[in-house]
Amino acid sequence: MTPRLWAACALGVLVLALIAYAATVVPWHRPPAPRADQLEALRGLPGDQVERARAFHSDLRPGSYGAMAVGLLAALVLGLTPLGARLVSLVGRPFGDHWIAQAVLGGLVIVLVVEVLTLPFAVWRHTVVVRYDISTQTWGPWAVDLAKSYAVGAVIGGLALLGFFTVTRLAPRWWWAFGAVGAAALVVLLSFVLPVVVEPIFNKFTPMAQGPLRTELMSLAARDGVPVRDVLVADASRRTRAVNAYVSGFGPTRRIVVYDTMLTEATPEEVVSVTAHELGHAQRGDVVTGTIIGALGAAAAVIALYLLGSLGWLLRLAGTESMGEPRTIALLLALVSVAGLLGGPAQALVSRRIEARADAHALELTGDAATFEAMQRRLGSVNLSDPDPPTWEHLMFASHPSTVERMAAARAYARGER
Ligand SMILES: [Zn+2]
Repeated sequence: MTPRLWAACALGVLVLALIAYAATVVPWHRPPAPRADQLEALRGLPGDQVERARAFHSDLRPGSYGAMAVGLLAALVLGLTPLGARLVSLVGRPFGDHWIAQAVLGGLVIVLVVEVLTLPFAVWRHTVVVRYDISTQTWGPWAVDLAKSYAVGAVIGGLALLGFFTVTRLAPRWWWAFGAVGAAALVVLLSFVLPVVVEPIFNKFTPMAQGPLRTELMSLAARDGVPVRDVLVADASRRTRAVNAYVSGFGPTRRIVVYDTMLTEATPEEVVSVTAHELGHAQRGDVVTGTIIGALGAAAAVIALYLLGSLGWLLRLAGTESMGEPRTIALLLALVSVAGLLGGPAQALVSRRIEARADAHALELTGDAATFEAMQRRLGSVNLSDPDPPTWEHLMFASHPSTVERMAAARAYARGER
C-alpha cells in the first residue's frame, strides 16, 4: 500500500470516528422550546429594547461580514495564485532562503497581510460597540488588546508552522501521519493550558470574595456533585459592559469564571442560575467533548491537506511543488479558511445543542424557571443580543439558543414538558 492509500484510509477512519463520537456524545434531542412560547416571550420584552438590539446588530453586520469576505478573499488570492508563494520566498531571502525563516516568518507575514486588510473592519466594529455603550474601551486599551492577540496568535501559529514543516521535511512521505497526531495533540494541549497561560494575558482572575453568594455557589456545586475548587471573577468591566460566564480547561485547569459585570448588573439569584448552567457544562464534560471533536477534526484536516497535495493543478495555481514546503503556507491558509467557513454551521449546531442541555441542567438544578427566564432577559438587555435573530444567521453562526428560545425552554420546563 502506498502512503497515499494509507492516508485515504486513515482519513476515512477519522471521519467515521468523528461522526460516531458526535452522534453518541452530542445531545441531539433538545428540550422543548415551543415557537408559541418564543413569540409570547418576545412580545413580553420592552419594544424599545428589542428595537435597539436589532439596530445594534444591523449596524454591526457590514463590519462583521465585510471582515469575513475580505479575509476569505485575501486568503484565496494569496493561496490560489503564486502571490503567496512569492511573498514567502521574499521574506526568506534575507535569511538565505532558510526553510525555518520561510515557515515561521513567511507564515506570519501571510497572516499579517490578511489581518491588516481586515483591520479597518475591526476598527469599524469597535466604533459601533462603543456607540451602543457596550464597550468601555478607548482606542489605547483596544489597540493593546489587539496587539496582545496578534502576539498570542504569532507564538502559537509560529510554533505550529515550525512543527508542521519540521515533520514534512523529516518524513516527506509519511508526514501526514505525524502531522495528524501532532495537530490533535496541539488541540488537546491548547484546551488544557489556554485558561492558565493565555486567558490571564487578557484578564485578571480573582477568587470570588467570601460571602453569602460564594457560599451558595459552592454548595450548589457540591449538591450537583461537581468538584469545584473555586469560582473566579474576571475583570471584564475594563473592556465591556456585557455580562457573561463560562467554564474552560479540564482536569486540574478547569475553572468556572464569572464576569465582574455580572455581579454588578445581575441579582444574586440570577448569578446562581448562570452558575448552574456552567455546572451543567462541567458535569457533562462539555469542554472535553469539544476538545475531542476539535482534535479529531484537526487530525482529519492535516490528512485532507496531504491528499489535496496530490492535485497537481492546485499546487500549480499556488506556484509550489508540494504541500510540504513553506511556500505553500498561503495555499494552506486558503484551504483552512474555506474549511472553517463550511464547517462553521455544523460546529454552531453542536454548540447550540450542548448549550440547550446546560440550560436544562440549570433549570433542573435550581428548579427556578422564573429566575432562569429573568436571567435570559437580563443577558439579552445588557448585551443587546437580538432576542429572535434571522433564521439563516442563527443557523450559520449562533453558538447558543436565542434569547426567546431559552425563555421558551424555561416556560416549557415550568409546565413539566421535558
Ligand atoms: Zn454555556
